[in-house]
Amino acid sequence: MKELSEVLQDWEAVIGLEIHTELTALDTKMFCNCKLSHDDEPNANVCPVCLGLPGALPVPNKRAIESIVKAGLATNCEIQRHSMFYRKHYFYPDMAKNFQTTQGPVAFAMYGHLDLDVTGRGAAERPDCAFGEAEAQSLASASANAEGLSTSMSSTMREGNQRAGHLASYDASNMQMPERREDGSYTVPIRILRIHMEEDAAKMVHVGGAEGRITAAAESLVDYNRCGTPLIELVTEPDLRTPEEARLFMEKLRRIFVTLGISDCSMEKGSMRCDGNVSLRRRGETKLGTKTELKNLNSFKSLHDGLAYEICRQAEVLEEGGQIIYQETRHWEPSRKRTVVMRVKETADDYRLFPDPDLAPFDLDDEFIDRCRGEIPELPDAKRARFEADFGIKAADAEQIAGDPEFAEFFEAAAAGMAGKEAQTVANLLVNEMIAYLKDAGTSLAESGIAPAQVAALAKLLATDAISSNQAHEVFEAMAQTGDDPNKIVDERGMRQVSDAGTLQPIVDEVLANCAEQAQQYRDGNQKVIGYLVGQCMKASRGKGNPKLFNELLRKALT
Ligand code: ADP
Ligand code: MG
Ligand code: ZN
Repeated sequence: MKELSEVLQDWEAVIGLEIHTELTALDTKMFCNCKLSHDDEPNANVCPVCLGLPGALPVPNKRAIESIVKAGLATNCEIQRHSMFYRKHYFYPDMAKNFQTTQGPVAFAMYGHLDLDVTGRGAAERPDCAFGEAEAQSLASASANAEGLSTSMSSTMREGNQRAGHLASYDASNMQMPERREDGSYTVPIRILRIHMEEDAAKMVHVGGAEGRITAAAESLVDYNRCGTPLIELVTEPDLRTPEEARLFMEKLRRIFVTLGISDCSMEKGSMRCDGNVSLRRRGETKLGTKTELKNLNSFKSLHDGLAYEICRQAEVLEEGGQIIYQETRHWEPSRKRTVVMRVKETADDYRLFPDPDLAPFDLDDEFIDRCRGEIPELPDAKRARFEADFGIKAADAEQIAGDPEFAEFFEAAAAGMAGKEAQTVANLLVNEMIAYLKDAGTSLAESGIAPAQVAALAKLLATDAISSNQAHEVFEAMAQTGDDPNKIVDERGMRQVSDAGTLQPIVDEVLANCAEQAQQYRDGNQKVIGYLVGQCMKASRGKGNPKLFNELLRKALT
């Protein structure tokens, strides 16, 4: 198989994502009062409603509606005042009532977008290509796309989705190849078609077989604790063009949802899940190719690697004159680095989607929507910009810190009143030392007990050269473990770095006297030998001299 970079020279990849997020922050299920928890004994949190017993009546969870409205507002969607719940029928033990309650053509949130900043390695993955008017048209027909799907349900869905304004607002000019900045980075808007509300199904456990798969299992058990968990599904337009863009979109969305406090968004635990739809077309072609849908993309790495593999696989099939099988669903196997066929997609018809007669249509008013808007905290993009402007820290660090509410709050407390070098040092300590420490210790920032004042004190020691960055690592570990003030640790361990030229000069003189040979080599033009001489000075000062200052003094003495 060819490499991705080679494939993307000839083919344009078209990717759309469907992202499910469990609203884990809520206390109760979507339509009943059962406790929302996956940690309890199997089937501890069930009732007639989520078990689908005859006559049980659902009551929508108001906080779940608030959550999806916030999710919509934070992703620039239009909140739909009038919408309702539908029944999507299927027969399987993971949903005892034999239908999933979901939304129909109109979702609570529709027609949004997120601007994606693609930089560095990610930006390099997208080869430049010329596209203009034709691109916009094919995207328009993609959203309205009924290619091969002429079922009654899908045409109803498409009517709802195909609101002219959404497509018109993304005219040809917007759909052109995003312009690259000098450093190769670019920003591209990714349209969001809809975010709708639905409920999760129960968890099936297949026992007595290999790999927990149903095929060889002796028996299958059902745990209804998860059944009825509020779930929001976000569907993007097919606007993504590389696996990196898909990964970045998912990461950005995750940061927004975490900041909103609506979910823990754990791909590992499955509270945030992503299906990747991907098709190829020859560069310059305007018609969309046949897509496949990838499942099991349950980490950011899998999302990228699974899509990259599938793009290369499709290219090989197409280049050999083959065809992509219509609407095939494939399973990504990270260990074997390949995708395998799961099934050919069922058509929407089979679901017999119709409005749920047990749930009244929604009529959201301005007051409700405004209240949700008022509860949205500062979002990651705004926070990043503020951190860059107020603290003068690097863009990449600002983005990383602002994307995690816990880290952002900690940073603001630690860097309060700082700017420039000191603030940057706090940022460095967080993205380097702190992340590594928490990972190693298997703990979270809150549980670690590390205080912002400790990190601030450590940053000051570093920024004033009182300790070296190597020493900072040791101090960080010690302060994390003991809870002591870094100044105390540095004093107790006699670590304070000597940055006084008067004290260091005699050491430099002594080292140069002992290393006449190396000194001559330096004078003869071998710059590298300075490292050796600094090392000797450090040794002579028992690690306490400031290496930067030694370096300066040595160079001065040798010229
Ligand atoms: P399905 O009927 O298979 O669910 P949809 O039209 O509802 O397909 O789209 C599902 C997802 O697939 C959306 O994210 C959409 O952007 C994406 N998509 C649709 N057509 C294509 C295509 N030809 N190539 C890649 N992605 C596509
Ligand atoms: Mg779909
Ligand atoms: Zn229940």
